[in-house]
Amino acid sequence: MSVSRRDLFKLAGVGALVSALPSKPSFAAAEKVGKMGAMLPPPKGNRVVVCGGGWAGLTAAKYLKKEDPNIEVVLIEKRPNFLSCPISNLWLADLVSLDFLSHDYYQPAAKYGYKFINATVLGIERDKKRVYTNKGYIEYNYLVLAPGIRYNYSAWFKDDKQMAEYARVHYPLAFIPGSENLALKRKVWEFEEGDFVITVPPGAYRCPPAPYERAAMIAYVFKKNKVKGRVIILDPKGDIAPKGPGFRAAYEQLYLGIIEYVPNAVIKEVDPVKKIIKTTAGDFKFTDANLVPPHQAGDLVWMADLIAKDKEGKPTGWVDQGPSYLPSKGGPACILGGRRHQWRSLSQERTHGKFSG
Ligand SMILES: Cc1cc2nc3c(=O)[nH]c(=O)nc-3n(C[C@H](O)[C@H](O)[C@H](O)COP(=O)(O)OP(=O)(O)OC[C@H]3O[C@@H](n4cnc5c(N)ncnc54)[C@H](O)[C@@H]3O)c2cc1C
Repeated sequence: MSVSRRDLFKLAGVGALVSALPSKPSFAAAEKVGKMGAMLPPPKGNRVVVCGGGWAGLTAAKYLKKEDPNIEVVLIEKRPNFLSCPISNLWLADLVSLDFLSHDYYQPAAKYGYKFINATVLGIERDKKRVYTNKGYIEYNYLVLAPGIRYNYSAWFKDDKQMAEYARVHYPLAFIPGSENLALKRKVWEFEEGDFVITVPPGAYRCPPAPYERAAMIAYVFKKNKVKGRVIILDPKGDIAPKGPGFRAAYEQLYLGIIEYVPNAVIKEVDPVKKIIKTTAGDFKFTDANLVPPHQAGDLVWMADLIAKDKEGKPTGWVDQGPSYLPSKGGPACILGGRRHQWRSLSQERTHGKFSG
């Protein structure tokens, strides 16, 4: 069966599907990578390359292959193991094991019949329909971008890269799955006394309930370990949302005196070295923190030149999306644009009874 673009849009309601859009080639490390050879022979039929093996990319790979076994589906993921952010707050409090969150990539690839390549995507050349990785390039007919998010430290530190690096290393966020989750857990369990601050990012960000949920789980650990600690939530919003009543009830009934919720705390300045956060609701010193800056679409979307511009021509940080299957305004493409689309993919999984989170 040949696959029309429309069919592919229907199948891949879970990622950024970018077809032959005329575009500027875009690279990172172009020269070095350009000399590498092809990792796979040219596609014989339709080959879809999925970049990013998180929830969205895995879902795309599985369902593309399931809907049409004749499509060659190649999933490229830089990490060796899958780690789930959903449920990771329960793991933070030792209420589920790491085995529950972490899985290998080979079993689903074998089960659903797509190819898994453990490599990092370094550049995308849309005109030539090539994805460049640290192991060589791969040609495609269709491209799905599912790279998740990136942290926008420049909102806090402007061009001060050293300060951004300091914050990233000393205050791992654990909003992108991986080593950060392990680091945060160690901090929480080793915390002895004082104020542990969580900053809620402004605007669109990955998993809106996550900071409130995380606060409750950290408070659970403090209470269980009889630690003299407080969890302070600095929220730019006027109230907890989503799930405000549920979180408020939990904070009042289970963690009174442990969790302090501060509304309207729009961040003015963060000093991770002096451990001070200045906000519109006052200044806060902290002993330790989960410093979460604003989020943006992942690097690959920037690499592919698919970030929307505002009226002044400045990048919005997010993909230019349309309402139906999130087509890009740059052409007939289906775009993954950060959290909203990620939520969509998970909702679809839930609808199909495949996701238990
Ligand atoms: C604490 C927490 C709790 C959450 N709980 C829930 C929940 O209960 N329910 C829910 O629906 N959602 C929840 N979420 C949100 C959920 O985690 C995200 O919506 C989901 O992870 C998005 O999946 P994704 O595939 O788009 O991104 P990711 O899971 O971030 O995956 C992106 C993948 O792309 C890979 N990648 C990136 N760049 C490259 C590159 N250059 N080359 C190769 N690979 C690359 C990354 O390594 C990664 O594996 C939670 C989030 C957090 C932080």
